[in-house]
Amino acid sequence: MSETKAVGDSDVLIVVDVQNDFCPGGALAVPHGDEIVPIVNRLAGGFRNVVLTQDWHPRGHHSFASTHPGKRPYETIAAPYGSQVLWPDHCLQETMGAEFHRSLHIPHAALVVRKGIDRAVDSYSAFYENDRTTPTGLTGYLRERGFRRVYLAGLAFDFCVRYSAEDARREGFGVFVVADACRGIDVENSVTATRASLHGLGIPCIGAQTIVPN
Ligand SMILES: [Zn+2]
Repeated sequence: MSETKAVGDSDVLIVVDVQNDFCPGGALAVPHGDEIVPIVNRLAGGFRNVVLTQDWHPRGHHSFASTHPGKRPYETIAAPYGSQVLWPDHCLQETMGAEFHRSLHIPHAALVVRKGIDRAVDSYSAFYENDRTTPTGLTGYLRERGFRRVYLAGLAFDFCVRYSAEDARREGFGVFVVADACRGIDVENSVTATRASLHGLGIPCIGAQTIVPN
């Protein structure tokens, strides 16, 4: 049974990485990633408060397979901060691939958090880089604005949405993942692992149609 959620002034929607490179035709395409754009637009229309995140890498970024001789995309390496999946070059700063999908239409979004800017550390989460200690500052922004509940949508479900959701919970916010406004990339069963992890943390996956403006 799905219950309706009325969202108001203490609720914020975080739209994760709806960028050209994560959509079909992009450098690191999430299958059917573009299908979420109309869903996210409609969803965002119900929120007074919206934050966007944007993956934003310098050339030679540590997460790119091309940076590591002999390595191929989707292999995993040991980084100083833990295991790191290697990706095709993507979301290079000031390129078309890093731009938001051109049909994404959320003019009232108040903040864009750029992440993955440090060449040596990847950043899946909107809150912390993958070293798990360097904050992006988003927690401070959300607290200062008085938000208590965080809703997440975007790409990819099993990486940047997952880690953002888990960090939001750790930071003490109520967290909901709007599952039909996300798509996964699914590296080595990462979608299944994500569902299990979110479930274990008590983070509900909900449908966009259950959210109504208050
Ligand atoms: Zn990236």
